[in-house]
Amino acid sequence: THTRPPDESDSMPHNDNVSAARLFGAQGASDPLDVLKRVYGYSAFRGQQLDVVEHVVAGGDAVVLFPTGAGKSLCFQIPALCRNGVGIVVSPLIALMRDQVEALKQLGIRAAALNSSLTRDEAITVRRALSAGALDLLYVTPERAVTDGFAEMIGDMDIALFAIDEAHCVSQWGHDFRPEYRGLDCLRSRFPGVPRIALTATADPHTRDDIIERLALSGAKVFTTSFDRPNIAYEIVERDQPRQQLLRFLSRFKGSSGIVYCLSRAKVEDTAEWLNVQGVRALPYHAGMDRVLRDAHQDAFLKEEDLCLVATVAFGMGIDKPDVRYVAHLDLPGSVEAYYQETGRAGRDGLPSEVWMAYGMADVIQRRRMIDEGGAAEEIKRVERAKLNALLGICETAGCRRQAILAHFGEAHPGRCGHCDTCLKPVETWDGTEAAIKALAAVYRTGERFGAGHLVDVLVGTINEKTERFGHVDMPVFGAGKDLPARTWQSIFRQLLAAGLVRTDHSAFGALQLEPEARAVFKRERQVFFRKDRPTSGKAARTAKGGAQRERADLAGSDLELFERLRAERFSIAKELNVPPYVVF
Ligand code: ADP
Ligand code: MG
Ligand code: ZN
Repeated sequence: THTRPPDESDSMPHNDNVSAARLFGAQGASDPLDVLKRVYGYSAFRGQQLDVVEHVVAGGDAVVLFPTGAGKSLCFQIPALCRNGVGIVVSPLIALMRDQVEALKQLGIRAAALNSSLTRDEAITVRRALSAGALDLLYVTPERAVTDGFAEMIGDMDIALFAIDEAHCVSQWGHDFRPEYRGLDCLRSRFPGVPRIALTATADPHTRDDIIERLALSGAKVFTTSFDRPNIAYEIVERDQPRQQLLRFLSRFKGSSGIVYCLSRAKVEDTAEWLNVQGVRALPYHAGMDRVLRDAHQDAFLKEEDLCLVATVAFGMGIDKPDVRYVAHLDLPGSVEAYYQETGRAGRDGLPSEVWMAYGMADVIQRRRMIDEGGAAEEIKRVERAKLNALLGICETAGCRRQAILAHFGEAHPGRCGHCDTCLKPVETWDGTEAAIKALAAVYRTGERFGAGHLVDVLVGTINEKTERFGHVDMPVFGAGKDLPARTWQSIFRQLLAAGLVRTDHSAFGALQLEPEARAVFKRERQVFFRKDRPTSGKAARTAKGGAQRERADLAGSDLELFERLRAERFSIAKELNVPPYVVF
């Protein structure tokens, strides 16, 4: 019964033996570089790819933290081809799995996926191919990978390796936590001799530690590379007249393509329509659109060179268009990780590209409300608040944006980059060294166990249940910051975070702790500059006020109604993408 149903070839394994012949030739040996050239048609490994490949081929465990587009897939695909047996790949999204399997089959690699989207017959065919040893790579969802049934199925087979792709899903600190990833440490106890390789483009220290701990990879070799994308220039502006601001930004890119991200589907539709009226060729893309139309818009974007794709976050995963010249955000992304991923779609060809974001207080208020009123557990809410603060820190920094982004990923950038907006046009700052010392003292004196909200209460001298219970009302630092409003202190903490002077503690969720660099501030060896608050009088203020009014109009029916609408929308995006809701929230 080797006949396959005519229209169900999607996830069928390749039947012929092309790959074996191509790979092993007459010698029966397979050298990674040889595989790279003959199977993939590439001439050389990039960056540290070969180091990872050799380490895993030799049977070692690995954690691979390379940015998007660096070429992580080859780091497990080639070892799987070089080693005996089938490589098992854990991947979170069925759509991504399908794309990868399809691409592999085109190369003559015997790949298949096993997931809930298969018909019974399809699943049987994949299982047969697997037990016949006729697969090089098998993609599975985490839910399946942790089951006893799956362990039994592959129990007495040769397994080349386990690859855990998008490994940040194991961590609440990552941008798309998937509880099912938590059980994957079972692979180690069940298959002790099989090398495991975890891969992600999210490398902030919390997520990194979580991956190593939760996946029981403490013995693994960690491969990291800089997360800097030197050809991307960053710009973040305060929202005033968002559409005009966007139009001005887009006017720099006549003849090239890019992406404009919006939070809601309605805004995607409206913005695309408006841009067309303004003479910018734009197409909308969101998960609520008719599938045929949506695919057509995606194809147009991939092929054409002068097109603006206005999209929700539903667009982008697995998209590989090298010449995206710009990415614009009309709304705050979900986190620094999401911002990095979304902006990272620009300039994959290495040519100069620009990313731009407009943000306003309305965004912040709305996001806080989504967190506070969302149904998540308190623990997750605290993580979400810390993530929002980290993102705001980058928006508000008076320093170099690139430095702030890289600091978030635990990476130091030597000096200012010179071509982000704050480097090109330094923002007005004030010498906040004394304020910074007070803020850092509040962190230190209260035992590095509290989040920014409580620390602000301590500094401005708010008597409440918490400041009393912990005895903070009796501390010298209590009320030491009365001279500044709470709002300023909140911004100060975010900027201290972005400057790498404090960090959020991992285990205590959102508690601020001192970084070693804070010592120099205490000793007054290092000055700290904060961004000047927005003007509150004069012409600038009137413009800002007008902007705020327009923003409120943007948020018509604001409050819960809007919130509920966004929620419903995001739930349906999640359903469409077959991911849990928090992935798109
Ligand atoms: P990541 O998973 O790190 O985001 P991918 O594995 O999807 O990146 O690779 C991104 C693109 O780079 C793919 O089109 C891939 O074929 C290409 N690529 C990877 N390694 C090489 C290489 N050594 N030479 C040329 N292209 C490569
Ligand atoms: Mg990848
Ligand atoms: Zn800079």
